[in-house]
Amino acid sequence: MHSINDPELRAVLRALTSVDRLVRMKPALELERIYGREATVKALRAALTDVRLALLDGMKPDTTAHGIIVDARRRLRMMFTATLRPVINATGVIVHTNLGRAVLSDAAQKAVVEASSHYVTMEYDLNEGRRSSHLNHTEILLKEITGAEAALVVNNNAAASLLALTALAKGKKVIVSRGQLGEMSGGFRVPDIIRQAGAKLVEVGTTNRTRARDYERAIDERTALILRVNGTTYRQVGFTDSAPVEEVAAIAHNHALLCVDDIGSGALLDTTAFGLVHEPTVQESLMGGSDLVWFSGDKLLGGPQAGILVGRAEIIDRLRRHPMARALRADKLCIAALTATLDHYRRGEASTHVPVWRMLSRPMDDLVKTLERWLVILKARVPDLHAEIIQTDSALRSGGLPGETTPTVALAVRVHGGADGLLMRLRQVETPIIARIEHDEVVFDPRTVFEHQEQALIDGICAALVASEV
Ligand SMILES: *Cc1c(COP(=O)(O)O)cnc(C)c1O
Repeated sequence: MHSINDPELRAVLRALTSVDRLVRMKPALELERIYGREATVKALRAALTDVRLALLDGMKPDTTAHGIIVDARRRLRMMFTATLRPVINATGVIVHTNLGRAVLSDAAQKAVVEASSHYVTMEYDLNEGRRSSHLNHTEILLKEITGAEAALVVNNNAAASLLALTALAKGKKVIVSRGQLGEMSGGFRVPDIIRQAGAKLVEVGTTNRTRARDYERAIDERTALILRVNGTTYRQVGFTDSAPVEEVAAIAHNHALLCVDDIGSGALLDTTAFGLVHEPTVQESLMGGSDLVWFSGDKLLGGPQAGILVGRAEIIDRLRRHPMARALRADKLCIAALTATLDHYRRGEASTHVPVWRMLSRPMDDLVKTLERWLVILKARVPDLHAEIIQTDSALRSGGLPGETTPTVALAVRVHGGADGLLMRLRQVETPIIARIEHDEVVFDPRTVFEHQEQALIDGICAALVASEV
């Protein structure tokens, strides 16, 4: 440890270059051209300060102008690398909450660009030349597709829950089946939302069975509504809610209460037609007698983040007029993307145009062909590659469940260094690749990799393999 009185150290500190001198040097001017004056000066100053501190600590840092500018460049690069980056999703998880859930259709992407580059008729009536008072286009589409009397769009499904429960049940009781109270993806917890809405949760049934009469027995004069939660990310194996929506709705209506349904996934199409387990659809719930149904826009619906409420006009009206509605409202980019997505449903082309459904319905031989193509290219570039096509199962959404997977094929790569290291290096390549491990092999699922990402995928796998010395 040197003392500040050490003459040798004082000489080194005195000889140290200054920010003023550094900014005039050619490589620093280049940084300034890329990152701007202010950020460059800040980075140079930070780099210089660190050198000074290191010297005072008795260390031997690189005190040359070159060394300091290199360090400043590293800082600038780190600072300017976007934290929200495109990645290659090779997990096969189509609705992956940590990777931003649904990818939009081409039409929905275009709609977002349009809406963001122009003024739009967000709340404007072209005929009247003033603020529009009637339903917007999205809500008209929602009514048409679901058969509901009215619709309302808010920021996300958690917001939809909060708005509905606050407006309809504040200071009153909400009855929910015990088996439906689990945590959803993204940490959404039904009991927390009910409490936040100022309502009181009444749990009925046991954790593995709830019958219609369990609901009926719990009703008293303070009950506002019966809430059903179709947790897509939490459904106990073997759990049997033996109370279908028709029965629950009938009980609610017999007692002049509301029956409301949180559908979560927002399935507007029948999942069994795609070889999946049955997922309750919005239409089924409304047909079954629910007064109000809400769901996410970016799960199985395949649109932007949104919370959609559909149901009886008088109820939607109450929600629309609630002060909280303004605080939770969806923005124009969301409305643009959602409208374009819903348009695919109206045209009956959702399964071919909405990426979520297109991925769900990709035929097995198409997946195999894709994998064979990858394997040929990879083997040509990495001759001693240990890779093969395997049969496996994919979870289709994050936080998925046993029994909620679909049989699929994937590419399995084995490396000497162990799968963990390769998985980590795959995340560090230019377009980060997110894969998974199965039996100590790194597994790449082709279902969620877009065709335009294939080159980046191959390059990334090769770069990561070279770094891990196959
Ligand atoms: C996913 C989910 C939510 C939360 O939806 P967000 O769109 O993430 O706010 C709420 N309820 C259910 C049943 C869900 O599946």
